[in-house]
Amino acid sequence: MSGYVTRFAPSPTGLLHLGHAYSALSAFDAARAAGGRFLLRIEDIDATRSRPAFEAAILEDLAWLGLSWPTPVRRQSEHMADYQAALATLRDQGLLYRCFRTRREVLDAIASAPHGPGEDAAETVFRGAALPPDEEAARLAERQPFAWRLSLERAQAVLGGFESLSLEEAGQGPAGEHGPITADPGLEGDVILARKDVGVAYHLAAVVDDALQGVSEVVRGADLFAATHVQRLLQALLGLPTPRYRHHRLLLGEDGRRLAKRNGAPSLQALRESGVTPGRVRALLGLAPA
Ligand code: GLU
Repeated sequence: MSGYVTRFAPSPTGLLHLGHAYSALSAFDAARAAGGRFLLRIEDIDATRSRPAFEAAILEDLAWLGLSWPTPVRRQSEHMADYQAALATLRDQGLLYRCFRTRREVLDAIASAPHGPGEDAAETVFRGAALPPDEEAARLAERQPFAWRLSLERAQAVLGGFESLSLEEAGQGPAGEHGPITADPGLEGDVILARKDVGVAYHLAAVVDDALQGVSEVVRGADLFAATHVQRLLQALLGLPTPRYRHHRLLLGEDGRRLAKRNGAPSLQALRESGVTPGRVRALLGLAPA
C-alpha cells in the first residue's frame, strides 16, 4: 500500500446530495488509483446541528455508492481535547484574541471598515484586535461569551510574512489555479478558531485531524479553496505537515446554481428511493464506472 491517504469529511447536519457524492467518489477513486487509503471522518463538533440520524444516513449513502473505509471512523466530537491543545498552542504564541462581538456587530464592523472604490462591503472580511485590557476584563467579569479569532497581523509578524506558505494544487482552484501556489491566508480575514457556543471551529479541527490521520492529499470542492489558504497558515503556525490539495469543480444544477441542499438539490436518499442506481450516479457526475 502506498503512503497516499485521503478523506471525506462530512458534517452530519443534513442528508448528502450529489455534490457530496462527487467529493466522496473523487476522493475514493483517487485513493484507489494511488493504491492508498480512503478515510471517512465525521465532522460533528457543532452539537447544536449534528444529528445521529444524519450520521447513520451518511454511512448508508456512502456504502450504497460502493465506498468502504477503515473503522472506527474518527468522530470529531470525541476528540475535543486535541483541538483544545492546538488552540492553547496558538494562544500561548499570542496569535489569538477574544472576540465578544455578535454576528450583527461583526457585519456592522465590516460595513463601516474602509473599503476601496468599487469594493463591496459584503466582500470585505473581518479583521479586528483584542479589546483594551480593562474592557476585556470587565466583559469577562460579566461572563460575556466570546470566540477566539486568529490575528492575521500577529501571524504575519510571527512568520515574517506569508510568502513562504506554499502549497501544491493537484486539481484546480476557482480561477484555474494549479500546481505550486503561495497561500493567501487573508482571504477569510481573522477567522474564528473557537466558536462561542462549541469551543472549537472547523478550520482548527480539520487541520489537526488531517495531520493526526496522516492525510497526504485533501480532495474537496473548489468552494473550500479559501479555507485551504487559512488551513495552510494554521499548519505553519502549529508546525504540522501540509498535505497536497486537489480541489474539484462544483456541480451545477440545471438552473446553473450550485448543487446544494439550500438550492433544492435532491438527496442521495431520494435518488436511491426513486430507483437511481450507484452506477447512474457516477454517470450523472461524469465519473468513470467503478
Ligand atoms: N465538514 C466539512 C464540510 O462538510 C468538510 C470540509 C473539508 O473537506 O475539509 O464541508
